[in-house]
Amino acid sequence: MTKFAEVAISLPIDKLFQYSIPEELSSNVKIGARVFVPFGPRTTVGYVVGFSDAPEVRDVKGVMGVIDKEPILTEELLKLTKWIGENYFCSWGEAIGAVIPGGIKKGKESIGSRIKVPEIRAEDFVITDPHVLMEEQDKALKEIVECVDKGEARTFLLHGITSSGKTEVYLQAIDAILQMGKQAIMLVPEIALTPQTIERFVARFGHRVAVTHSHLTPAKRFLEWKKIKDGKADIVVGARSAIFAPMSRLGLIIIDEEHETTYKQDDVPRYHARDVAEERSRLNKCPLILGSATPSLESYYKAKRGDYKLIRLTRRVDDRLLPKVKIVDMRMDLATRKKLTIFSRVLLDAVDNALKAGKQVIIFLNRRGFSTFINCKKCGLVVKCRRCDAVMVYHFEEKKLICHYCNYHQAPPDICPKCKSGYIRYSGLGTEKVESELSHAFSHVKMARMDSDTTAKKGSHDRILSKFKSGEVKMLVGTQMIAKGLDFPQVTLVGVVSADVTLNIPDFRSSERTFNLLTQVGGRAGRGEDGGEVIVQTYAPSHYAILAAAKHDYDKFYDEEIISRKELLFPPFVSLVKVVVRARNDEMTRQAAVELAEALRAEDKDAMIAGPAPAPMARMRGYFRYNILLKGKDKVAMCAFLKKVLGSFRKPHGVLIAVDVDPISM
Ligand code: ADP
Ligand code: ZN
Ligand code: ZN
Repeated sequence: MTKFAEVAISLPIDKLFQYSIPEELSSNVKIGARVFVPFGPRTTVGYVVGFSDAPEVRDVKGVMGVIDKEPILTEELLKLTKWIGENYFCSWGEAIGAVIPGGIKKGKESIGSRIKVPEIRAEDFVITDPHVLMEEQDKALKEIVECVDKGEARTFLLHGITSSGKTEVYLQAIDAILQMGKQAIMLVPEIALTPQTIERFVARFGHRVAVTHSHLTPAKRFLEWKKIKDGKADIVVGARSAIFAPMSRLGLIIIDEEHETTYKQDDVPRYHARDVAEERSRLNKCPLILGSATPSLESYYKAKRGDYKLIRLTRRVDDRLLPKVKIVDMRMDLATRKKLTIFSRVLLDAVDNALKAGKQVIIFLNRRGFSTFINCKKCGLVVKCRRCDAVMVYHFEEKKLICHYCNYHQAPPDICPKCKSGYIRYSGLGTEKVESELSHAFSHVKMARMDSDTTAKKGSHDRILSKFKSGEVKMLVGTQMIAKGLDFPQVTLVGVVSADVTLNIPDFRSSERTFNLLTQVGGRAGRGEDGGEVIVQTYAPSHYAILAAAKHDYDKFYDEEIISRKELLFPPFVSLVKVVVRARNDEMTRQAAVELAEALRAEDKDAMIAGPAPAPMARMRGYFRYNILLKGKDKVAMCAFLKKVLGSFRKPHGVLIAVDVDPISM
């Protein structure tokens, strides 16, 4: 009897395709292996996900060839990718395409990396011994290990203040599961920005660690993947896609800094690694540890409800004090500042004192460039990007206006492009201007700036940090790039030039993001014995995100924020699905979006649907964009509902529709 293969294809078509299996291939076609199949006029790669006995249409085409002798996808990864398809609005084939490394298909090697990732070689490290755990750490470890013993799929939220020894708990939990013959996956937000964490893993476990990340060439990536698949690595450390590491004896998953937005993929399949990890922990009956000093609202809510097991680490190692935080009200300070300066007296004095004491200083502003908008004082024109609804930012070093959304460059105008007057004025500030003003105030001090402009060249990231580490550079100015993970004991002062940059972004997560960033960047101060101080400049000194960050009080922040999420009906109280309709013509886009919203409402009059409304960035890269926002309790049902409506929706030519489940921003 002929058997038929059920094949998933990496295209946005939500169905499986059936192919007959020719006699000569019958013993070679296996579930989880790739095959060549005819698809329309061409041949394509497909993934065998099942078999069937009866043909569904009259002339079923045949499989043309088998690529893998042995399956490249385990049964577990097949289940996981199917789940992603159902939860993140993509086809099973698209989900599979994201799970296997690009290098596995024959392709070009050499995708250059912008940030040089330090090569980590186990032989460079002396294997370190575990610390004797403190009481809270010990209790945490016991609970986790007990869960592994019982084969339970539990999620732990490890809420520990910075330097409370979370990483040490991860290391010892991994050690325990290795001794049981099991394996572990450890996710970090971004490999290039967390070298110190990775070094600690390699230093503890040596060759048993595989580090995977997107900056590897496809060939190298494939080798790492193969090493894991062949069981030659027991611990995988990597960014979000490491959650798909092909391990067969998985015993523990850890997500460090679980609140980070980098765990959400912003291309198809738009999965969130935290949710995928939870599903994988269920499939493997193993625990998942989510660690953070500032947990996401979603995770803390689940922990409070008892869905997650909450473990707290409340004491810092060596009982080191958290840095003191001072809030400077920039409205009041206006009088004492000289005309243009962006620094308060308080901050300038603190910098001066720290430098005089021979210490180091970090100055943080989450915006790059020099002047962040340019307008005409006569007619009011603001210079905007030709392709986006975004203001152009002046970059001093390049002497150019640059769009931060599409990278469009243009020369700065001398006269107003509209009224031809000469009253062009530069205002707003970015890191370039911060550096420039500081170099006037402290001309004798060696300074460096770290943002995506200064780290574009390979290796520059490391160079800047090593100069700071050696003490050659005394003051480091930067964006969120310097907020995470850096551990420099000589830094006694962190200055935040403006806490309002993230606070004023029109998004329901802006308070959360502000709280997280302030907590993180503040945590860079006082890691040595001299203690530390954080000075936060703001025009909104009584905002709860800023007040709570100043007091290091996560619970206070959570209690306030959760009220507004509930009132406005945002996560964690509902899930969001964002539908983005875009096209090159504004009216055509709006019209299509209106029709789609009507079709959705007609299908289910009780569904919670908002919009269409122009996206916050209404035009991007030449495309006009309208958002429709769905809210609901059940993601799978929402996806199914959308699939149904879109399936019969007549989309005008030139209109593109993208669906983002659990979007990070609006
Ligand atoms: P976190 O991950 O919460 O920031 P870490 O695990 O990095 O904290 O711990 C901070 C520092 O304290 C590290 O240098 C670590 O080696 C050290 N440390 C952790 N636990 C202990 C312990 N029980 N005894 C002594 N030092 C410890
Ligand atoms: Zn003008
Ligand atoms: Zn642009």
